[in-house]
Amino acid sequence: MLLAAAGAGAVVIALTRPSGGGGSANATAATSAGTPAAGGHASASPTGPAHRHHGAASGHADTDSSLVNAALHRSSFVTAGIPRHRVMALTFDDGPGPYTPAIVRTLVRTNTPATFFIVGQSLTDFSSALESELRHGFDIGDHTENHAWLIHLDESGQLAQIRDAASRLERLGAPAPRLFRPPYGAFDTTTLALLHRMRMFMVLWSIDPGDWRRPGAGAIVSGVLSHAQPGAVVILHDAGGDRSQTVAALPAIINGLRRRHYDLVTVPRLLALDPPPRHQQAPHLSGV
Ligand SMILES: [Zn+2]
Repeated sequence: MLLAAAGAGAVVIALTRPSGGGGSANATAATSAGTPAAGGHASASPTGPAHRHHGAASGHADTDSSLVNAALHRSSFVTAGIPRHRVMALTFDDGPGPYTPAIVRTLVRTNTPATFFIVGQSLTDFSSALESELRHGFDIGDHTENHAWLIHLDESGQLAQIRDAASRLERLGAPAPRLFRPPYGAFDTTTLALLHRMRMFMVLWSIDPGDWRRPGAGAIVSGVLSHAQPGAVVILHDAGGDRSQTVAALPAIINGLRRRHYDLVTVPRLLALDPPPRHQQAPHLSGV
């Protein structure tokens, strides 16, 4: 993935579709100026384990929420954090789906925290996988109800996409999601205004091994490890197609990062440890 600053106050986002098709999106978005934070109180241990066996609603959800609140004082989104601690965040999009249980098993077996960005409509058939994610304490974010191109929707359409997925998550016992990832990385000023109103933080990414293109498990592993750096956010996909290569790659990704002495953390913890820059410009993301 290429990452470059766009012109003042605006960005162009061009990402290929994670699931089928080869289109790209162009969007403009205002730069987030961020507001001065009250203080760096959002500290956390970089070595926390996966929040296993606690249930997402039993305590750490409140902590995560306060970490997101602190991040919102700095910015409205993250692509990668300032490299203060040697941490990285693994994120999984488009699920839950048929491959999600295998992903969860690997994460649990290796005691690896992670963040899942959920497509609301997938919960019709795979709500048990969400329940497993919650039971094991993984962090859950909103990835719209129908994996929508938000930039083609008006404000009410965008709101419905974000809110409907959030409502489904809450009905299934998840905490109200505070993290949001726009499908295709495509967002505009309307998206940012809605997220601001909903007190939600937008999570982009800095490492994209293109697992959804199925380049081979080895290529997915090297696509992550060769770009590893403190503060990085990795995008992977647990659904939206055949994800057997992602399943196969995950143990080597985790082992490889740990051999390089990275602590793997959820997105809220990454935001606390390696926070986004205060005055970052919205990025130009370019896939393929
Ligand atoms: Zn997606």
